Amino acid sequence: MPTDAGQGTIAEAMHFADSHVHLADAAFAEDADAVIERARAAGARALVCIGESLEAAARARVIAARHPGLVFHTAGVHPHDAGSWDSARDADAVRAAVRAGAVAIGECGLDYHYDHSPRDVQRRTLDAQLQLAAECARPLVVHTREAEADTIDFLREASAAGIGGVLHCFTGSSALAEAGLEAGWCISFSGIITFRSWSDDEILRRVPDDRLLVESDAPYLAPVPNRGKRNESAWVPLTIARLARARGVSALQLAAMTLRNTQRFFALPPSGGA
Ligand SMILES: [Zn+2]
Ligand SMILES: [Zn+2]
Repeated sequence: MPTDAGQGTIAEAMHFADSHVHLADAAFAEDADAVIERARAAGARALVCIGESLEAAARARVIAARHPGLVFHTAGVHPHDAGSWDSARDADAVRAAVRAGAVAIGECGLDYHYDHSPRDVQRRTLDAQLQLAAECARPLVVHTREAEADTIDFLREASAAGIGGVLHCFTGSSALAEAGLEAGWCISFSGIITFRSWSDDEILRRVPDDRLLVESDAPYLAPVPNRGKRNESAWVPLTIARLARARGVSALQLAAMTLRNTQRFFALPPSGGA
C-alpha cells in the first residue's frame, strides 16, 4: 500500500510567484539557471523576468526561453534610463519583444529620488510606454519613487485609456495606493516589508485579495534575515510570510492567491504544479 501521500496528512507544499525579478541583471550573469532552479525547488511556479532596458529585455527573453512555463519576460525602459529613449527605434523594439512573448511593458515609471533622467523626459518616456501598452494590449509594470503627484495623474490617464498595471515594490502613501486601486491596478510588495523600518501594515491589509502581488525585485532588497545579500526568488516566501501575518491569513493561502493573481495579471498559462 502507498503511504499517506495524497490523503491530506502530508503538509501541502507552498507554490508561489515572483512577479518582478531582474534575472537578466549582471548580478546573475554567472548563475541565473541555478538561481531559477533554487526558486523552482522552493516552490516558485511563475517568475516574471523584468527587462528594464531593451538590452536587459533581450537577455530576459533568452532566459525565459530556457525555462518555458516557469520564467516569463517583459520589455521596457526604466526611468533611470528615460533619457536614452528614442521613439522611432525603441517603440519598435518593444513591439518586437511583445511579438516574441513579452507579457508586460516595463519596467517603466518615474523616479524623482535619483533623478537620473530629467523629470519631463521621464514623463514623456513613460507616456510613450503607456501608448505601447494600449497598442499591444499588455499591462504596465511601473516603478515610482518620490513622484506621487505625477504618478497619480498618470494612473488617471492610464485608467481612462483602459490600461492595467502594477505599482511594483510599493512603498508609497495611502493616497497613491488608493489611486492605484481606483485605476484598477495591482500593488506588489517586496522584501522591504520585512525590514524593521517598515511600519505601514495598514497598507498591507488595504489591498484587496485580487489586486495583491509579491516580488523579490532581486538582486536587490533581500528580505530579512538575508538583508544585504544578493536577493533571489527562492526567498520570496519570507516576504509572503510577513504579508500573510499582516493580513491574518496563512502563508500557504497567500502564496496560492498571489500566484493566481500573477498568472491572471500577466495572462500566463496556468502552471502544471500549482
Ligand atoms: Zn523598480
Ligand atoms: Zn525592478
